[in-house]
Order: sequence, then structure tokens, then C-alpha cells
Amino acid sequence: MSIKREIERRRTFGIISHPDAGKTTLTEKLLLFGGAIQEAGAVKSNKIKKGATSDFMEIERQRGISVATSVLAFEYEGIKINILDTPGHKDFAEDTFRTLTAVDSVIVVIDVAKGVEAQTEKLVEVCRMRNIPMIVFINKMDREGKDAFELLDEIEQKLNLRVTPLSFPIGMGYDFRGIYNIWEKNVNLFSGSSRKNIEETIEIEDLANPELDQLIGTDAADTLREELELAEIYPKFSREEYLEGKLQPVFFGSALNNFGVRELLDCFVEIAPKPRPKESDTRVVKPDEKDFTGFVFKIHANMDPKHRDRLAFVKIVSGVFERNTPYLHVRNGKKLKFSSPNAFFAEKKQIVDISYPGDIVGLHDTGNFKIGDTLTEGEEMNYKGVPSFSPEHFKYINNADPMKSKQLDKGIDQLMDEGVAQLFTLELNGRKVIGTVGALQFEVIQYRLEHEYGASCRYENLNVHKACWVEPDNPKSDEFKEFKRVKAKFLAKDKRDQLVFFADSAFSLQMTQSKYPNVKLHFVSEYK
Ligand code: GDP
Repeated sequence: MSIKREIERRRTFGIISHPDAGKTTLTEKLLLFGGAIQEAGAVKSNKIKKGATSDFMEIERQRGISVATSVLAFEYEGIKINILDTPGHKDFAEDTFRTLTAVDSVIVVIDVAKGVEAQTEKLVEVCRMRNIPMIVFINKMDREGKDAFELLDEIEQKLNLRVTPLSFPIGMGYDFRGIYNIWEKNVNLFSGSSRKNIEETIEIEDLANPELDQLIGTDAADTLREELELAEIYPKFSREEYLEGKLQPVFFGSALNNFGVRELLDCFVEIAPKPRPKESDTRVVKPDEKDFTGFVFKIHANMDPKHRDRLAFVKIVSGVFERNTPYLHVRNGKKLKFSSPNAFFAEKKQIVDISYPGDIVGLHDTGNFKIGDTLTEGEEMNYKGVPSFSPEHFKYINNADPMKSKQLDKGIDQLMDEGVAQLFTLELNGRKVIGTVGALQFEVIQYRLEHEYGASCRYENLNVHKACWVEPDNPKSDEFKEFKRVKAKFLAKDKRDQLVFFADSAFSLQMTQSKYPNVKLHFVSEYK
């Protein structure tokens, strides 16, 4: 098959949601449609469960699962679908943000009763800023929840989206009868008292058709007609607008009951984007270019502590990736060959000879890769857009075992490359500070340093509200000199030697910004 055809038939996306909205259940149903798994329960939840086990054991369990669920690929009607895993837990939000740099579109899952929740807001904001095409799936329609219009309003207001329903629920909760599919103009009914099965799909081109009354009763039919008339105030669906991230189609359903999922999937494969061009520091790269290029968006440490190898996840942006072919690791200028690249199928990984744009390959790595690294056939360029975010939790990290300081340094170095946290060095005294997006990461780091590197660390509290990257308009200005002098105690360098300011409170951050207007403070590392 030609490369063009392979690109055409690929859809690489992520499902984002607040924990418990139904992401795992939906993923599983999608895999069932693709015939990639045979039964429900095959996809393990990657959630951090609070409970009997202590947090870090839970994280280890989760890490074991997340190797398996990092990429779930399957075929559906000739389309190759790659679902990239995005942890919903807020402490792992950074992983999710980075994964979003490797997707071409997303599906947002919202719980009908809970509506828009905190984590959904954060993740959607990132997608909105990047104009990633989004489809919204309102889940758990078999439960009592908010009214459809109220939810659509809430999505518009809280998520700042422009929505258009492509399906519409007939009743909800106990009275949930089914779905009117606006996209395909047909009705799907829930059947039986258990409501577990989809009855047949009935084409209703014209809503005035009395068959609708017979199917769902006159009252429900009239309500549906009224509601669909009201729904006409929403903009008409336009694929262009969806692809530009300016319009978001909405579907209703119940993942658990496998209801409305096929409608979602059928529409998804039709409208969702194939692999898209990506910007690098020198140019925009198109997927159908001849030469292979790709970038690392995730690094996963091997679960076996005796073999300290890792799996670097590379999204293929252009050309064809081939096994045993030397590629340039642009950051360190080395050519590297990969003898056993992994591709991902449902929950298994396999060695592949060849992969195409949109696909993810897992490369075994002994410490060459950092998140954000670019691979090419020789071209000197770097992909943009795998940023670090301002951490919000900070601690000094001290060596607790003087005999193991080398191990500690190596461990910290590698964990930072994996993106578990960020390391800062204070300008004033050279002390090392770990900054994380979530509080759980401190336990992860301590546990992994001990188990994988034989090192032990001690934390010491440090009162920092937020770290931001500093960019003076003019590095020679008196204003910047004064900023550096006055704030000397609060300045540090990150691993790339970029200057970082530690604000000890929201108030001091604000004051600093207004006092030094020509010294820009950024909340993502990649601001240039
Ligand atoms: P995740 O945290 O977003 O991955 O959510 P899960 O898929 O693990 O689902 C969270 C809970 O909601 C589980 O108990 C599911 O069985 C349940 N759930 C998922 N979809 C539905 C649905 O359509 N209806 C109902 N009633 N429950 C659902």
C-alpha cells in the first residue's frame, strides 16, 4: 500500500475526561467494535485508587498497567485507529499534556450527572489553545442527570467551546429510550428491561413520520420533535470548522451499555483528521514527505529494576520508520539504529519492521532520550511543542546516603528525562529543588530512586507557590539587573540552564509582574 493511502487511513487520538466519567469503559467498547479484544474487562483502568494499599504501591500498579495501555491500536472498517492513553488523575496531568502533543484529535467524555468537571476544564483548555479537533461524548445517559440543553450550555460556557449536537437523547435515566442520530437521521432504541442491548436501528428521515410515535409513544415523540427544533439554534455541523478546532460535535450515549458508541465511532472515522503537518523550529513538516521524522513524547521506565532500559514513545510525523535503519538523534548528534522497535496492538506490543505517520513506535533506550527529542534521517531540526509546565509543588532534595551520591545523581537525571518531575538548581547556593505538578510524584521519585538506583533521598520543605521561566526583553537593561539583584534568593536554573523565578505566593507573583513589566514570566518552558 502506498504511504499516502496509509496516512489517509490513520486516526490517532486521545480520550480526555475527569476520572470516573467513563474513559476506560468507552475505550473498551471501541476496542470491542474493532474486534481487538473479545470481552469486557480486558482494558485495565489506569486510575490511582485510594484505598488499602499505600499510594506509591498503587502508583507502581498503575505504572504496570500504563505500559500496556499507553497506545491501544486497532482496525475498524479499514481505518487504523491509535488511541493514546491520557491519565485522568490530576497529579499526572503533565503526562496527559505531553501526550496531547502527539494526538491529531480528541474525544472528551463528560458524565451526564456531573457535567463539566475540573480536570476536563484544564485538558480541554490545552486542546483549545492548540486548535485540536474535539468531539464531545456525554456519557451515562442511563442515569438521571442534567437536561441536554443545560449540559450543552454548560459545555459552551465552562469549556468555551462552540458545540453542535449530532445526536440527541430520547429521555434519560429511568426514562431513557434511545438516541436520535442527527448525523445519520435514524433512531436507536434501548431494548428490554435490562436495557443492555441495542434493538435495531430505525431510519427516520422525516421527524413528522408517525412511525416515530409508534416507536417511542406520542408524548416522547412530540418532546423529541420540540427539542430537535430548539436544537436548530446550534450552528450547523461543518467539517472544516471541526478540523480547525472551531466547532465541536456532541454525541450522547452510555458507554457501559454500549449505547451510542457505534454512532460516535462511525462519525469519528469519517470526520476525524488523518495525521497532520507539524511545526518544527525550522519549518512545517508534512506527513507525506519521503524522509522519516518523529519525536519522543513519553518515556516509560521498564518495570524490571534489574534492566534499566526504558521505552521511548515516538510519534511518527513524516515518512516511513524502518527497523535497523540509522536515524539522527538531533539533540546529541548521534545516529541510532533500532533492532526491535515495538508497535502496539490493543494490549500487546510486537516488533515491527515498518511504521507510518500517525503511528507510535516504542524504542528501547538505555538513556539516550529525553522527552521532546527529535529523530530524522539527517535533517537538523527539532519539533516544537512538548513543553514543561510550571510545577506547583516544591521540595529540596538531599542525599540521605553519602556512599550513594553517584547513584542518586544518575537516578535523578534519568527520572527527570522521563518527565516525572523537574529539577532546579538555586542560583544562590546551588541547592537542588524538585518541582512537580502533582504531590504524588515525590513518593514516586523516592520509591523509584531506592528500587531502581539503590539511592536514597530526603526531602525538605520549601515554600514556593509557582515557578516561572524568565525572559527579559533586554538582558542588559537596568530593570533586569535590578530584578536579578532583588530576587536573587528566588532564582534558579532548570536543566536546560534557563532562568526560573520562584514566586512564594500568588501575591508576590503579581507584584513582581507589575514591578518589572519588561521581564516576562512564562508558565510553560517552551515560550520561544
Ligand atoms: P474513567 O475513570 O473515566 O476511566 O471511568 P471508568 O470507565 O472506569 O468508569 C467509571 C465508573 O462509571 C465505572 O464504575 C463504570 O462502570 C461506570 N460507567 C461507565 N460508563 C457508564 C454508563 O454509561 N452508565 C453507567 N451507569 N455507568 C457507567
